[in-house]
Amino acid sequence: MRLSHYLLPVLKETPSEATIISHQLMLRAGMIRQLSSGIYNWLPLGLNVLKKVENIVREEMNKAGAVELLMPTMQPASLWAESGRGDYGKETLIVTDRHNNQLIYGPTNEEVITDIFRNNVRSYKELPLNLYHIQWKFRDEIRPRFGVMRGREFLMKDAYSFDIDEKSAKESYDTMYRAYFKIFKRLGLKAIPFKADTGAIGGDMSHEFQVIANTGESEIFYDPKFEELVDTDELDIPTLRSLYSAADEMHDPAQAPSDVKSARGIEVGHIFYLGDKYSAAMKAEVMGADGKSTTVKMGCYGIGVSRLVGAIIEASHDENGIIWPESVAPFQAAIINVKSGHEACDKACEALYAHLCEAGIETLYDDRKESAGSKFATQDLIGTPWQIAVGPRSLEQGNVELKNRKTGEKQDVPLDKVIAYVT
Ligand code: ATP
Ligand code: MG
Repeated sequence: MRLSHYLLPVLKETPSEATIISHQLMLRAGMIRQLSSGIYNWLPLGLNVLKKVENIVREEMNKAGAVELLMPTMQPASLWAESGRGDYGKETLIVTDRHNNQLIYGPTNEEVITDIFRNNVRSYKELPLNLYHIQWKFRDEIRPRFGVMRGREFLMKDAYSFDIDEKSAKESYDTMYRAYFKIFKRLGLKAIPFKADTGAIGGDMSHEFQVIANTGESEIFYDPKFEELVDTDELDIPTLRSLYSAADEMHDPAQAPSDVKSARGIEVGHIFYLGDKYSAAMKAEVMGADGKSTTVKMGCYGIGVSRLVGAIIEASHDENGIIWPESVAPFQAAIINVKSGHEACDKACEALYAHLCEAGIETLYDDRKESAGSKFATQDLIGTPWQIAVGPRSLEQGNVELKNRKTGEKQDVPLDKVIAYVT
């Protein structure tokens, strides 16, 4: 991408409406702009990251055996009457269409997925089944704040499992529990699971996944052993479940270990075992092996995809801007033409840009006639992992200056060897 043809409205000043660092940096890096309270435009750089996060979530869900479909944003309110949970309270946005039917902009999808299931699945032989989608949700939050962290319109991955009995349903639950750690790890995050309140969704077992960050909305307490345990590839679920962790009002100092850690957390995911809460009310039944009709057992599993973009920034930034984990960096490499208009620099940049693009490296080429200082500052702000400065002096030696955003390390590298470094 040539920066001269891109939309990257970076800001030098920190906008006063943003109180937490991720919100400030997302605005300053030109990733998002607020359209209305809690409703955001995702500008090209922001969308690029959002899609990468979304794809990692998708890949791990698929690997865990879940199957993607897509449900609409609008749902008939009549379905919600059937499940018996009523509406979602004041958070629900309800509109009346021209035929006087009420539609809900989906805040979550238990009713719709249960309806799909009961209309299309007949036999225990088709189970277990885990269906998910990645779709925009709307919740009319009382206090939208912190940018995309608590929006009104936000992107969520929500999966729903269907099993013939409780034992199998709990295995499905554990499969998601495991997949969640893989997802957060690939996003460069350390997330800790907490036994959680089942809230408006209902059910009898639930875990929240919290990323530790000073600006988290909830206060969390946990056994320090989690930090190592969640970092291993082979998760020891029984041990994890035996450790103490509690959020806010669930915390009981009498139950906690003496070295309990307290921190603030951002909830990035939430999983629930639902049992037959929705399947019984909405008659989601299949033919069992004994030939009798059986109500299926369900689970539901959410991840805040758009919130994750903010959470990653909370966990990884410095005073100059964002430090993206490579897995979600919008561009892997940036070419900074230190002297646009200088013939040799322009030529070398063009050739390098073509070369990097050909090698499949997502590259942002700053070809604008701006000062070198402002170009460097922009790349630090938007967090490009590899920054390649092409200037007249090093070019005379056939070199460019390569900077690693994370370590700040700079080195002179031969122009024709750059690719080996950035891949
Ligand atoms: P919270 O306690 O933060 O309000 P919730 O319990 O209402 O979240 P769930 O219904 O479990 O959320 O939704 C699944 C995930 O969607 C959450 O774990 C969170 O990451 C994300 N999420 C929920 N509400 C919002 C929001 N208003 N803005 C952005 N992401 C959200
Ligand atoms: Mg929650």
